[in-house]
Amino acid sequence: MKVVEKFISINGEGTRAGELAVFVRFRGCNLNCSYCDTMWANEPGCPCEDETPEQIVSYIEETKVKNVTLTGGEPLLQKEMPELLHLLAEKKDLRVEIETNGAVDLSGFRTGEQSVFTMDYKLPSSGCESGMLTENFRFLEQKDTVKFVVGSQEDLDRAGEIIREYGLIGKCHVYFSPVFGKIEPEQIVNYMIEHRLNGARIQIQIHKVIWDPNRRGV
Ligand code: SF4
Repeated sequence: MKVVEKFISINGEGTRAGELAVFVRFRGCNLNCSYCDTMWANEPGCPCEDETPEQIVSYIEETKVKNVTLTGGEPLLQKEMPELLHLLAEKKDLRVEIETNGAVDLSGFRTGEQSVFTMDYKLPSSGCESGMLTENFRFLEQKDTVKFVVGSQEDLDRAGEIIREYGLIGKCHVYFSPVFGKIEPEQIVNYMIEHRLNGARIQIQIHKVIWDPNRRGV
């Protein structure tokens, strides 16, 4: 598996935001979002370690950190991901979060009670909405999350449409996250108030507040 970095930090977002997590970032992505902050990891020539699923699990266990975040790039593009998820599912004390971009079919990747998906729905300002697989909404459970990364009013309006059309609130967690530097968080809150989006949440990426927004490995 192509691992570009692995490190311990805090979860910057998601349902376990603020808790310790061990991150494994995989190389490559099938999208090209306008605001991508890990584009370097998507380059085919980005330096990486070739690691087996067993080696990755050993590293995770050695850290003694119990939240595991698999990210990228798009982690589900790794050929051996089903095997890695299977091995992680055997470690009952680990809670695995799979960050996925909404453009990969999730069927077949649900492994173990303690694993959750945090799935993006890419909005117009990303330039990648046409890649979204809305069939994925069928596979989501209450413990999973749909995240809308919002960069404009048009994005907010589109997110509202998707939330309503697929009945997302109540089905899973629903988060709004501002594109850093592109939209004032207050505009998102105002939208939530105006549309009475009970059950949805706004979330600011904590790691970008704590560290330099461009810093890697945090
Ligand atoms: S899906 Fe994520 S990693 Fe891929 S281009 Fe978009 S923001 Fe970057």
